[in-house]
Amino acid sequence: MTKKVNLYFCVIILLFVSLLSGCSKKKEPVTDSAYMLGTHLNITIWTENEDEGKKVIKECFKRISEIEKKMSVNIKDSEINNINKNAGKEFVKVSAETSKVLNKALKYGEISNGAFDLTVGKFVKLWGIGTYNERIPSKSEIDDALKYVDYKLLKKDEKNGYKLDKEGMRIDLGGIAKGYAADEAYRILKSNGIENAVINLGGNIFTLGTRPDGEIWKIGIQDPFEPTGTYMGIVQFSDKAIVTSGNYERFFIKNNKRYHHIIDPKTGYPSENGIISTTIITNHSIDADALSTSVYILGVKKGLDLIEKLDDVECIIVTKNRKVYLSSGMKDKFKIKNNSFQIEN
Ligand code: ADP
Ligand code: MG
Repeated sequence: MTKKVNLYFCVIILLFVSLLSGCSKKKEPVTDSAYMLGTHLNITIWTENEDEGKKVIKECFKRISEIEKKMSVNIKDSEINNINKNAGKEFVKVSAETSKVLNKALKYGEISNGAFDLTVGKFVKLWGIGTYNERIPSKSEIDDALKYVDYKLLKKDEKNGYKLDKEGMRIDLGGIAKGYAADEAYRILKSNGIENAVINLGGNIFTLGTRPDGEIWKIGIQDPFEPTGTYMGIVQFSDKAIVTSGNYERFFIKNNKRYHHIIDPKTGYPSENGIISTTIITNHSIDADALSTSVYILGVKKGLDLIEKLDDVECIIVTKNRKVYLSSGMKDKFKIKNNSFQIEN
C-alpha cells in the first residue's frame, strides 16, 4: 500500500515544558525525531550527558523499528502479514512480543464487546484512509467485508501460533502497536537511568517521571476544531501514558462529509456517535491506545461505563456539540482552557 505524505498529521497533544524555570542546572534537554509506524515520533529526555542521551534515544528508535518490522501491515513480510497471507490456510508462528500484542488486542476485543477489533484490516484496506486509495466503498463491498471482520475468528494454538479462520481476513494493529512501541521506549529510557522524558509517538504521549524541575507535567488536549497546537484543556499527570484518538487525525472529506480512520466493526463505516475525540490516561500506553479507539466507537455512555470498571484508567471524551465528559478520577485533574467547551456532570 502506498503511503501518502500525511498532510493531516497532527500532534494531538501539545506539551508545555518549562525549560528555563527552576530546571536543575546540569540537566539539558536532548531531543530526536523519526518517522515510523506511519507517523512522526519524537523523544525528548533531560540529561547531564548529551552524547549518552542521543544514544539512548537512538536505541529507542531502533527498538521501534524492530516492532514495525514485525507488526506493520505496510511491511510485506511482517509477522502480521504472514498471518494475513495464511488466512484460512495454516497457523503461523510469531515472536513472543507480537504474540503479546495480539493477545492484548484480543483481550480488548472482549472487554469492548467487539468495538475494538484487530481483524478490522479488510475495512482499513477498503476505505484506504491515509493512503492514495481513499474512497467510499459501495454498500455491497461493505456488506461483503463484514463477513471478514470478527476477532473471534483469530485462532490461537500454544505450539503453532495464530490462524485467521477465513481466507481474506486481515489483522491490522494500527489501533494498538504504537502503544506497545511507546511502552518499549519508556522501558528503555527507564533502564538507562533517565528520570525525565516525554515520548510522543504520533500523539501517543508517555511522560516519564516529572518535569526536570520536579513539577507535574501539564499536557494540553488538542482542540478538535482548531489547527494543531491549539488546546481546549489541560491535564496534569506525571509518569502516565496519554493517548488520544480523534476524527481529525486521518480523514478525507467527500460531499461535505468527513470520513475518518476509526471504523465501527459492526457497520464497516467510520464511527459516528457524536464523539470527536477520546483521550485515555493510564499506566501503559498499549492499554491507553486500545482503549482510546474502543471508547471512541463505544460512545459516551458505554465508553464511560467501561472506563469506570477499569482500575487506574481515566478518560476525557469530547463531542461534536462541544461537550466534555470526564471519568470520575479526572474531575480535579482536567482544566478547561476554552469556555466554548462545557463539562457535563
Ligand atoms: P491513531 O493511529 O491515529 O493514533 P487510533 O489509535 O484510534 O488512532 O487507531 C486508529 C487505527 O486503528 C486505524 O488507522 C486502523 O489501523 C485501526 N482501527 C480502526 N478501527 C479499528 C477498530 N474498530 N478496532 C481496532 N483497530 C481499529
Ligand atoms: Mg488506539
